Amino acid sequence: MGGGVGGVLSGSLLAHAGLDVILLEALDYLGGCSGTFAHREGVFNAGATTLVGLDDRLPVGRIARVLGIKLPVRPVDPAIRVHLPQTTVPLLRNRDAFLEALEHSFPHIDHALLWSSVFRTADALWPALSSLPVFPPNNPGESLRSLVWAMRLLSGTGLSVLGRAINHIHSVTTDPVYQQFLDHLLLITTQATSRDVTFLPAALGLSYATLDNHVALGGMSAALDALAKPIPRILRRTRVRRILPKNDRYILQTSRGEIEARKVVLNRDIWSLGELVDAEPVRLAAQKAMHRVPRRWGAVTLYFMVQLPPDRTPDLHHQIHHEKNPWTGSHSLFLSLSDPSDERLSPEGWRSVTVSTHTEPALWENLEPALYAEQKERVRTFMLDQICAHLPEFRHAAKGGILVGTPRTFRRFTGRTEGSVGGVPMTQGQFPFGFASCRTPLKGLYQVGDTVFPGQGWPGVATGVLNLMKVLEKDSVLPKDARKLLQGVF
Ligand SMILES: Cc1cc2nc3c(=O)[nH]c(=O)nc-3n(C[C@H](O)[C@H](O)[C@H](O)COP(=O)(O)OP(=O)(O)OC[C@H]3O[C@@H](n4cnc5c(N)ncnc54)[C@H](O)[C@@H]3O)c2cc1C
Repeated sequence: MGGGVGGVLSGSLLAHAGLDVILLEALDYLGGCSGTFAHREGVFNAGATTLVGLDDRLPVGRIARVLGIKLPVRPVDPAIRVHLPQTTVPLLRNRDAFLEALEHSFPHIDHALLWSSVFRTADALWPALSSLPVFPPNNPGESLRSLVWAMRLLSGTGLSVLGRAINHIHSVTTDPVYQQFLDHLLLITTQATSRDVTFLPAALGLSYATLDNHVALGGMSAALDALAKPIPRILRRTRVRRILPKNDRYILQTSRGEIEARKVVLNRDIWSLGELVDAEPVRLAAQKAMHRVPRRWGAVTLYFMVQLPPDRTPDLHHQIHHEKNPWTGSHSLFLSLSDPSDERLSPEGWRSVTVSTHTEPALWENLEPALYAEQKERVRTFMLDQICAHLPEFRHAAKGGILVGTPRTFRRFTGRTEGSVGGVPMTQGQFPFGFASCRTPLKGLYQVGDTVFPGQGWPGVATGVLNLMKVLEKDSVLPKDARKLLQGVF
């Protein structure tokens, strides 16, 4: 249930392993937070715009290789251009060039000292993730395997990676601008800043620009359409309203009738399961999950089309730092332009733009319609002012309306609790043991997505899907010859 990244990747792998799979998606396109929608004269990515880790050794690349699927993508370098008050920093793939760019903007800092430990940790963790045993463990055998796995990883990285990222940063510099620069890279990758996030996941977040970054041509939904090819039946515009356990099966009551299934994989945030599944243990688990994660982020987004002067060819992705304001939750916004060669998102010289920033979902709840509209207008003006201050070519370039999305919009379209997005922040309290397992309290009912271990973004959700496959093998859900068919997953 659900055609987000988690639903599509797990549906395709299960179909590839020989199971009879039906994918049910409420909207008429796949992707959810990584979807692509048409509105008036434009086609826009709803949330995610950067696709990282298509290398065979990384989770999304591994799954694509197992499925034999080539994605409609183009490499992007620099992955992001970061606009700080006095300088801009291109985040380049080549590590020496990356460090040189940092040196240029922050000459007084010993970058090699900090970044050598970031890269060393990330280089140890990515390959280790491919041999990660079932996690979180739920019996002594699984616990032992996790322990051995963790000891092996930590013997390479040292125990200090379990400390907070801020300790590592402060051992090199206390420059507040540099710290804000790092914090905002962490916020978009781990959903928490250096004071709260453990260095281990922080290293993955900070170094993600030096992995292979891509833009999906035709939008993120096009990448998911390609990845969904192995699934024999995809029912779009089919909303699951209720799931009833019945003997050893499940009855899914949908907007288009009932469907009976032996096993169900839910691609929905862990907090909403209680509303969907008619079983007390699931309701209790969802309530507990709500308490365990007190802070959930939402997003404010802008969508519009621009025509830029032909002599201006800015990079595709920009992070713009700004002063704090009352409506958003961070000091930066993320702007993505569609690739000029993309026939769907960039028709006749126009470019599709998606801008996003963090916000507190509660700020948008229970507002009278007039107040809601006024708040949207204020945040739209604020965000556009910040964009034009750093990218002046945008000032007169917008065509048609500028669409604003809020947590209410995400709730309406993707069904996510409170419209919260981005998964579970990787704070020391949550990571890794606070994360939900892909197992639910009911036999035969599983979950994937960015609120399930190990979390958000394509690499996180894909790692969760690989974990799910291992669990399904242990639970004897996969056919006997699945290991052969899914070579590369185990
Ligand atoms: C603004 C923003 C920017 C981001 N940028 C990036 C980025 O650049 N790169 C990156 O890797 N990640 C990015 N992310 C994170 C990434 O988009 C998500 O982590 C990922 O897409 C979540 O996938 P998911 O599997 O959890 O599914 P979701 O996106 O939650 O999708 C769930 C799907 O289930 C469907 N559904 C829900 N309820 C039902 C129901 N009852 N019946 C049927 N179907 C249902 C929904 O319609 C949806 O399609 C961004 C997220 C946001 C919000």
